[in-house]
Amino acid sequence: MMKNIDNYDFSGKKVIIRVDFNVPLNDKYEITDDTRIRAAIPTIQKIREKGGAIILMSHLGRPKNGPEEKFSLKHILKDLSEKLGVNVQFANDCIGEQARTMAARLKPGEVLLLENLRFHKEETQGDEAFAKKLAALADVYVNDAFGTAHRAHASTTVIARFFPEDKMFGYVMENELKSINKVLVDNEKPFTAVLGGAKVSGKIEIINHLLDKVDNLLIGGGMMFTFIKARGGQVGNSLVEDDLLETAKAAMKKAGEMDVNIYIPTDTVAADKFDNNANTVVCKAGEIPDGWMGLDIGPETINTFREMIHNSATILWNGPMGVFEMDNFAKGTIEIAKAIAGATAKGAFSLVGGGDSVAAVNKYNLADKVSYVSTGGGAMLEYIEGKTLPGVAAINQSV
Ligand code: AMP
Repeated sequence: MMKNIDNYDFSGKKVIIRVDFNVPLNDKYEITDDTRIRAAIPTIQKIREKGGAIILMSHLGRPKNGPEEKFSLKHILKDLSEKLGVNVQFANDCIGEQARTMAARLKPGEVLLLENLRFHKEETQGDEAFAKKLAALADVYVNDAFGTAHRAHASTTVIARFFPEDKMFGYVMENELKSINKVLVDNEKPFTAVLGGAKVSGKIEIINHLLDKVDNLLIGGGMMFTFIKARGGQVGNSLVEDDLLETAKAAMKKAGEMDVNIYIPTDTVAADKFDNNANTVVCKAGEIPDGWMGLDIGPETINTFREMIHNSATILWNGPMGVFEMDNFAKGTIEIAKAIAGATAKGAFSLVGGGDSVAAVNKYNLADKVSYVSTGGGAMLEYIEGKTLPGVAAINQSV
C-alpha cells in the first residue's frame, strides 16, 4: 500500500513538507490572497496531531540573485502562526547552521518555517547537494505543493531520493491528483471538455490528448477563430494564428475519426475595437465583417454549449469563452460557468482548472458549486496534456 498521511506513523519524526506558500503580497508585505496557505493547513495539522515535528519549505516569487526582502517568507509568519494556533519558528536560511540547529531542537507538534528556497539558485537547478542538505533536516518528506509538481526542482523532486521509504503526498496533492484522475481516467460518460482562452498554441497538446478521452469538445475563446478560419470562415480582425490553421484542421479531422463531437461556435459577439465600450454586433462566427473582431461566443452558441454541458456526467473546463475581463464580453464565460454549476447540482463531476477559468468561477461566486477547482495552473495543464509530473513521479517511484 502507498504510504500516506493517514496510514503513516509520524510519532517522534521530523517531517519536512514542501508547501506552496507562494502568495501575493502588497507593498506593505501583507498577504492579499491566503488561499494557498489555507490549503496547506489540514496536512500540517494532521501530522502535528500524529506526533510529528514540522519543517516547512516553500518558494515565494522569483528572486533573481539571492535574498530579497520582498520575497522573504517571514512576511507570512504571523498569518501562518494564527492559522495553526502555534508560534511558528523561522530560520533565516533554508540550509546552514541555524536551520540545522533549529530543526534538531524541534519537538513534536512544533513548526519551523524555512526561508525562501529560491534564495539559492540550486533550488530551481534541481541541485542534488542542495537537496541533500534539505533532506538532512528531517526523517520524512511530504510533498504538498501541486502548483510546482511540474518542476524538477530540488525541493519538489530531487529531495525525494533521500527518503526512499519515507515519502508521500500531502492532502492538497492527493486531492488534486484524485480529482484530475476522476476526470481523465475513471470518468463517467458522457465526458465533455470545454476549452477556451486566447490561443490554440497554448492548448493544442491538451486538445490532442483529450481527443482520445472525451465525447464532446467545446471550443470557445480567442482560439475558436483559428478553427473557424481553417474551415474557410471570415474572421475579420479576430485573434487568429495563421501558422496553426493546418494544426486546427488536423485536430478537427482526428475528432471526426475518433467519433468525438467537436463544437466550434456558430455565432459571436463582434466588436469594432478591443474595448469594453466598442460598438458590438452579434453575427455568424464565420461571417465577421472586415475590421471587426469576435470577443465572445454568441447566444446561439451559449444555448448549444449549455445543452451539451447539462447532458454530461463529467466536465472539464479550462479557459474563458471570451474577453471576460471586459463586462460586455463576459456573458459567454458567465453562462458556461453557470451551466457547469447547474450540471454539477444534478450530479455531474466538474473540474475547473487553469488560471483564468479559476478566476472566472471565483469572480462569479461559483467556486463552491463545481466539484473541484484546481489550484495547480501550469501543473494541471501539463497533467491534462498527458505529461508525467516530476514531483508526482518522484513520490510514486519506489527508488
Ligand atoms: P489563456 O491564458 O490562454 O487561457 O487565455 C486567457 C485570455 O484569453 C483571457 O485574458 C481572455 O481575455 C482572452 N480571450 C478570450 N477570448 C478572446 C477573444 N475572443 N479574443 C481575444 N482574447 C480572448
